[in-house]
Order: sequence, then C-alpha cells, then structure tokens
Amino acid sequence: MTRPTFAHVDLDALRHNFNITRQFSPDQKIMAMLKADAYGHGAERAAVALNDKTDAIAVAFIDEAIALRKAGISKPITLLQGIFDQKEIEQACEYQLDLVILHAEQARMLEAEPCSRPLRLWLKFDSGMHRLGFSADEYVYWFEHLSAHPNVAEVRLMTHFSCADEPENPVTAEQEALFDKTTQGLKATYSLANSAAIMAWPSTRRDWVRPGIMLYGVCPFADWREDHRNLRPVMTLKSVIISTRTLAPDEAVGYGGSWVAKEQCRIGVVSIGYADGYPRCLPNGTPVLISGQRAPLVGRVTMDMITVDLSGLDDAQVGDEVTLWGEGLAVEEIAECAGTIAYELLTGVSKRVPRLYHDRSSH
Ligand SMILES: *Cc1c(COP(=O)(O)O)cnc(C)c1O
Repeated sequence: MTRPTFAHVDLDALRHNFNITRQFSPDQKIMAMLKADAYGHGAERAAVALNDKTDAIAVAFIDEAIALRKAGISKPITLLQGIFDQKEIEQACEYQLDLVILHAEQARMLEAEPCSRPLRLWLKFDSGMHRLGFSADEYVYWFEHLSAHPNVAEVRLMTHFSCADEPENPVTAEQEALFDKTTQGLKATYSLANSAAIMAWPSTRRDWVRPGIMLYGVCPFADWREDHRNLRPVMTLKSVIISTRTLAPDEAVGYGGSWVAKEQCRIGVVSIGYADGYPRCLPNGTPVLISGQRAPLVGRVTMDMITVDLSGLDDAQVGDEVTLWGEGLAVEEIAECAGTIAYELLTGVSKRVPRLYHDRSSH
C-alpha cells in the first residue's frame, strides 16, 4: 500500500471540454495546448485521449514534443517557444514539428543552413503583450522574407492576447484591430484566440483556436461561480485523513502555532503538503471536501501534511477521502484562496503525486 494521495485525471471530462471548445468554434481548426505536461495532467495521456478529435497539438519546447512523438503521437505539433539554438532545426525537421518564430534571431537561425525538410511556421505578432513577437513595423517584412525562403513550407500568422479573460476590457479589441491592420491583404492562416478569447471574443476565432485551460475544465473568467460555461474539472486532487485528535481550548496547531482552537475541537491530519503542490501560502479557512462536506484548513501547510478542523463532521475518521480541489470543489476557488490562478495550481502538482486516469470510453 502506497501513500493514498493521487491526482485523478478524468479523460472523459477532457473530451467533454474539447467538445465544448468545438461548440464555441465549429468552423475552426483546434490546436490543443499540451504544454507543461498538459497543465499537469500528463501530456501523453491527454494527447492520446484527444487524438481522434483535435487537429493539432502545441507544447512549449522541443523536448516536450519529442516525448510525444516517441509515444506515437503523429498529429501536427507546434513549439510555442520555437527553437533555442540552431541544432534544434534539424530535430524539428526529423520529428516533423512546426515552429513559432518569435524574434529575428530565431528567423536567422532558421535561414542559416539548408534543412532537410521545409518547416511550417507560425509568425508571432506582438499586438500588445510586449513580451515576444515582431512589432507592427517589421511583421510584414519577416512574413514575406520567410515565405520566400527554401527552408520554409508555409508562414502562418499568430498573436496572443494579454487581457482576454476580462470581457469588459477594450484592450483585446485593440490588439485584434492592430493585428488586422498590420496583416491586411496577406494571404495566410490566422490564429489569435486562447480559451478566454474563444469564449468571450467571437471575432478572434478565425482559422485556428488555441484552447488550453478550458480543456482542463477551468473557467478563466472572474464570474466562474455564476457561469462555468459547462466545463467539467479534469483533475481532482485527493488524499485521506491519516490521524485525528481532539484539541482543548487555546491549544495551537502546527508550525508557528499559527492557529489556536477557540473551543474544544477535533482536528484531522491529511497526507498532502506543499511538496505535492498544495501551496504553503493557503490560509486558514481554505476549504477541503470530506464526504461531500466542506471543512476548513487550519494551521500551516507543511511539506507532507495539512491539518483541517473536523467540527461538525462527527463521523469523519481515519481513512476518509479528502478532496483538495476538482470534482465538487473548484480549483478556481482554491486558486483565489492562494492569491493565484488555477493554471499555477494544476501545473504545480509535483511528480511524486501519481496521476490516476479514468477513461470510461476505453472500457
Ligand atoms: C498557453 C497558450 C495558450 C492557451 O492559453 P489558455 O489561457 O490556457 O487557453 C494559447 N496560446 C499560446 C501562445 C499559449 O502559450
């Protein structure tokens, strides 16, 4: 018997969320974002689960892509950060990978030597994120220059929004307008939209959409409580109560004695901690779910354990299952408690937490 702390990954929910994405963008091609090990869910399993549905896949860098190719994934794969040095060009040819070109140095690496197979490129436009991508005055030059190069099979156009998760924020429409003005008259394939843009900014869907977080069942908008857009959580992080004890009034729990019992109460110890990716910064009162009922975190999160207040849960006992987030307890809520976003919690679940896959459709 190993430690009963697991990240359950529901591949049916992943496919359900893909279908929701398809409903939002019925006329588009879909590039599923599987970077960072599919946002912590396991890129290989996610790629296999979506293989019959998705038009393409994207990861951040070449090692992530080669791992998927070695696992037998034959879909088009895009490297969102392109290449870091020239050696990767030949590997990109060998493994049939598409590159995002983010700046002139990458373009020059690509042009430097003949390569064994012309590559398909996504030319990144900086529409206002001001992080990566070509600016308005150089974009068309690089589009034409690269389109004419023998190492290049096709140049596609892309940009990325900085504020698409704020449906009232005019910045997204401004970024879109700048992109359109800059690329006016170019005959090419366009991709603009991440999850938030797919759902909130219909005109940005264009030829290819790039859903990430919505595939994993997370609603990227501040109003996720009122309207979850029919998305289902894919990861449920679970552990169990490994010990209980009763505290007398004024007894403190854990490091620093940061929480003190006001009255007599029962405490449960749960076998999960910050070394698993359950953030140490989570405050007293952060909810966990025990037999469908909420209980508050009390005391500091430690490396391997947390403590929760079992008041009102008189039947709770050693061995009971505890949900930290996922089914029944939105990861969005826990992210709010931690002062971060769900992306960070999902990608932060550490390697020592086994992923257990649920895949009803394969049974
Ligand atoms: C990660 C990523 C996405 C997906 O963003 P979500 O907010 O997770 O949908 C889209 N485009 C690019 C370039 C990305 O890096």
